[in-house]
Amino acid sequence: MSKTVSILDQYPAYEVTIGIEVHVQLATQTKIFCACANEVGKEPNTNICNVCTGQPGVLPVLNKKVVDYAIAAGLATHSTIAPVCSFSRKHYFYPDLPKNYQITQGSDPICSEGNVPIRLEDGSTKRIRLMRIHMEEDAGKNIHASGSNESFVDLNRTGTPLLEIVTHPDIASTYEARTYLKALRLLVQSLGICSGNMEDGAFRADTNISVRKKGAQKLGTRCELKNINSFKFISDAIEYEIERQITLLESGGTVRQETRLWDTKEHKTIMMRSKEEAADYRYLTDPDLPLLVIDEGWIDRITHTLAELPYERFNRLMADYGLSPQEAEILLDDMPLAIYFETAYACTASKSLINWVVRDIMGYLKEHKIALAECKVTPEKLAALVALLEKGTINNHAAKQVFETVAKTGQEPAVIVKEAGLEQMDSSDELQVIILEIIAANPKVVADYKSGKDKLFGFFVGQVMQKTKGKGNPTLIQELLKKELS
Ligand code: ZN
Ligand code: MN
Repeated sequence: MSKTVSILDQYPAYEVTIGIEVHVQLATQTKIFCACANEVGKEPNTNICNVCTGQPGVLPVLNKKVVDYAIAAGLATHSTIAPVCSFSRKHYFYPDLPKNYQITQGSDPICSEGNVPIRLEDGSTKRIRLMRIHMEEDAGKNIHASGSNESFVDLNRTGTPLLEIVTHPDIASTYEARTYLKALRLLVQSLGICSGNMEDGAFRADTNISVRKKGAQKLGTRCELKNINSFKFISDAIEYEIERQITLLESGGTVRQETRLWDTKEHKTIMMRSKEEAADYRYLTDPDLPLLVIDEGWIDRITHTLAELPYERFNRLMADYGLSPQEAEILLDDMPLAIYFETAYACTASKSLINWVVRDIMGYLKEHKIALAECKVTPEKLAALVALLEKGTINNHAAKQVFETVAKTGQEPAVIVKEAGLEQMDSSDELQVIILEIIAANPKVVADYKSGKDKLFGFFVGQVMQKTKGKGNPTLIQELLKKELS
């Protein structure tokens, strides 16, 4: 695979350092500290209670499922899971935060020092180290009316459970950043703890970027890109930011620490707020929540619920089916397609099956804009088709025709072959007769071919195929033609 082009290629004296924080919205039934449903899309301020709106005198009660999910994320990222951890109050004042503090975890997060393996373009694996994974509650939403000066607050989202997953500054390119985010999203989706839906904000990434001259000891000043909701925009924004910072340094300026947003229309990052100093959140241990104790038994219970993880699946697909990394990656990104492939392979263990899945099935779905589940070529039928081809009952040409018919009618491939008389013609005697006829009917072409115009061989193959209505065995035809024409 060729290396992805990056703006950094144009500045060989520089390197980029990237760290990423992701907020993963957990797919629990209820919110993190109260019994309100964990749902989006309701009428504003209808999915709230005294706890999530921070009324005086109420007490939060931790949702055990949130801890289960945090442990699952920790195990899947090879993190250390703290036997005891606590919750903290992080104070700030904003209309969407009625308590004036967010309940989060401070210096003792539930998970620390894990890693997420990613595959680099040269095929090697890099482990992006995680500093921490902690649990916290989400805030509400401010809605600024367009057309009037009014602002509104919707508290439905307050108390939505989140995991915040923070990397070390290990990421060294836009490609790595994008690959890490894709791997992490696939991981939380596979664990069943998050929808991964970026447009709804269920998976939100904040990216810290700094550049420095290669070999410099100190990291450059970083800027944070906040809440960008697509992989493409994140990549574009990082590329833009790399060039902005390098250009600034090259012209003798300095990068200021600030939070920036991606303007999707103008295609540039814009300043949201400067971060001259770290905000003083006055963290304190939340006195309303007891210490959280996680024993071996709890961890064992969650370990048993873990399904195959994406990188395990990736390696297994290559080992069990002899797939290339590119083929394995296609199946990794598309779980239903992977199940389809494995089901078909269980019926007909053929090396060529993956080509049919990637080329024909995916092509058909795209062309007809349908989902895999709606496709009439079931894994069993595709396997039957491939088996007919491999046994030599039909040739490639006929196989394509059968595929189209199955896709349209859902009929069994064997029935289609019988009804349409598509069996491959591989009797030497019958083919020989046809070949001799063609040679007799085209004396001029034969003479030209024999005088050295090798390209004319294709003419004869074409003629035989036409006479056999595409059913002739191509290998046999070539063999016989070579013999008769020599
Ligand atoms: Zn509530
Ligand atoms: Mn956070």
